[in-house]
Amino acid sequence: MHSEIENMITTDILIIGAGPVGLFTVFEAGLLKLRCHLIDSLPEPGGQCAEIYPKKPIYDIPGFPEVLAGDLVSNLMKQIEPFNPTFTLGESAVTVEETEDDQFIVTTDKGTKHKAPIVAIAGGLGVFTPRKPPIANITDFEDKGIKYIVKDPEEWRDKKVVISGGGDTALDWTIYFAETLNCDVTLVHRSQSFRAHNDSVQKAMDMAEAGKLKLMLDSEVVALKGGDHLETVTIKSKSGDIIEEAVDSWLPLFGLTPKLGPIAEWGLEIEKGAIKVDNATDYRTNRPGIYAIGDVNTYPGKLKLILCGFHEATIMCQSAFAKIYPDKKNVLKYTTVNGVNAF
Ligand SMILES: Cc1cc2nc3c(=O)[nH]c(=O)nc-3n(C[C@H](O)[C@H](O)[C@H](O)COP(=O)(O)OP(=O)(O)OC[C@H]3O[C@@H](n4cnc5c(N)ncnc54)[C@H](O)[C@@H]3O)c2cc1C
Repeated sequence: MHSEIENMITTDILIIGAGPVGLFTVFEAGLLKLRCHLIDSLPEPGGQCAEIYPKKPIYDIPGFPEVLAGDLVSNLMKQIEPFNPTFTLGESAVTVEETEDDQFIVTTDKGTKHKAPIVAIAGGLGVFTPRKPPIANITDFEDKGIKYIVKDPEEWRDKKVVISGGGDTALDWTIYFAETLNCDVTLVHRSQSFRAHNDSVQKAMDMAEAGKLKLMLDSEVVALKGGDHLETVTIKSKSGDIIEEAVDSWLPLFGLTPKLGPIAEWGLEIEKGAIKVDNATDYRTNRPGIYAIGDVNTYPGKLKLILCGFHEATIMCQSAFAKIYPDKKNVLKYTTVNGVNAF
């Protein structure tokens, strides 16, 4: 028990979801000298902005006539730097339990435990879950040669890798693995055309022509073999050719779809896949101490917009402060007067 407490990450506000709303929460909490830790199932912060549309311009962020979604995330990361937030990335929050000292313990799918008096769910559309190809024994090799997300690319340095997919993620990693990680890499795609930036497609074609990577179009991986670890993938082309390739790893990068996931089982009131909150007060859920902000929540008139999530985060932090320090008076101070005082 003692060592379990020692290994536990403790903070003032535990934020589930490092999308734009979760990130901005760190800033508003920081102004109140509240510390934050963020959990996200993705390997990088940024939520939908980073995962779905990093290169698209957004036009309705106040004060920015136009900002790329990826740049908005970078700016938010810079804005919260003074408050030293900490992160558990690549792990999903799966359970919550209340403790006798009126706090919460949130445990992830990898077993990491976090303790805080306040939980702010900023889970957006939910956990991004990989689209898996329909191969019967695929789960046997997950984390034993098969990964759906590249968290630390160095893991694949000098390896023999097959990547599947026709979008930007598959193409970008194929190029990076060949160019930077010295991998023997084959990109397998079931069509002749890609859903990716033209310059990446052209670059992959040029590299294939120069013998720096292998492209197998109109083809797909149809079978897997191995023991404790993946050993071969079987690739079938539309014309019926079948080859078996020895590999260290196969990365099916067919995109991610979001699902509310385990949070739906936390005893929170859910309406149409979103968490019901009280917008007349502070975006509290039906469980005192647990708030829901950003795309994940619902209330009359809700708009799933970034600026609305920023507002919700601001109000929620004031309420969190009052809950953590019931005897302290909090006077609203302008940042123009007070600056951003790191701690
Ligand atoms: C193509 C597109 C264009 C858009 N354009 C605009 C626009 O122009 N203007 C605008 O205001 N909005 C726009 N939006 C909507 C905007 O992106 C969302 O409102 C915003 O991302 C919501 O932020 P969030 O932080 O609440 O959630 P998200 O960005 O969805 O982030 C939530 C994070 O929580 C994580 N998560 C969820 N559950 C768990 C869990 N159990 N454990 C760990 N992590 C978890 C997810 O991995 C994710 O990273 C657009 C959306 C799309 C898809």
